[in-house]
Amino acid sequence: MAQRSAALKARGITPGLAVILVGDNPASQVYVRNKVKACEDSGLRSVLEKYEASLSETELLARIEALNQDPDIHGILVQLPLPGHLDTHKVIEAISPAKDVDGFHMASAGALLTGLPGFWPCTPHGCMKMLESIGYDLRGKHAVVIGRSNIVGKPMALMLLQQNATVTICHSATPDLKAMTLQADVIVAAVGKRHVLTADMVKPGAVVLDVGMNRDDNGKLCGDVDFAGVSQVASYITPVPGGVGPMTITMLLVNTLQAAENSLAA
Ligand code: NAP
Repeated sequence: MAQRSAALKARGITPGLAVILVGDNPASQVYVRNKVKACEDSGLRSVLEKYEASLSETELLARIEALNQDPDIHGILVQLPLPGHLDTHKVIEAISPAKDVDGFHMASAGALLTGLPGFWPCTPHGCMKMLESIGYDLRGKHAVVIGRSNIVGKPMALMLLQQNATVTICHSATPDLKAMTLQADVIVAAVGKRHVLTADMVKPGAVVLDVGMNRDDNGKLCGDVDFAGVSQVASYITPVPGGVGPMTITMLLVNTLQAAENSLAA
């Protein structure tokens, strides 16, 4: 990343990320702060735009359009969730696909689905990078994804499929989750509930990626996986905090860098 960043700098370009935060959701404030700090630490330029929760949709869409036109901004991120009166879908679709570094635009989703170049959602992409970092070959493996959201579960399943895994997607209407996870070589837990995955649900030697971000009874950050138990069974497991979360931010920076490189070719 440092090399790519230096090559851009040599051509007079500093990758720029605009982060839009509407309202004062405490978790969102932390996420946004972490993203802005990561940009600063990596030599990327970030612009944080904070707005009152009362911001109108028209005003937000106008702001996005201005950023779409700004040549110094290569990536635009609107922190979710948005206040209820704002139409999330409409807001995301207003971002130019060329600057959609979160990978949530329908054009990005379509590109992933069809195997064309485009921005991949950062969290599942980060999970793929973690598998790559341990040299894990997904070909012929059975991957079970728990959760089917548009931002984590579904794109995760597509990325695993693209690497030739056989993929099962589980969700709240899956009748026997344990029967599914026990068959898995790789499990990705993306639910948002503590202890969704316990040691008795994991095949010995399986690889477990924990995307969940929850609070335990003491208010401490924890994942979906019972880490203490599952780490006794799994061959590889990501912790929360310190696992998928930081990788998500890294992939956001990589996407911003990519957007800046693409702007040169455009
Ligand atoms: P989401 O939109 O709420 O989706 C949760 C999914 O879990 C849904 O598909 C739901 O099924 C399924 N589910 C709920 N209860 C279940 C159960 N008992 N068994 C099996 N499946 C169940 O959440 P998300 O946005 O995908 O996020 C998931 C978690 O990841 C959250 O904790 C979030 O904070 C975290 N997250 C972390 C990062 C990171 O950077 N580390 C990034 C994004 C999200 P239905 O579809 O049937 O309702």
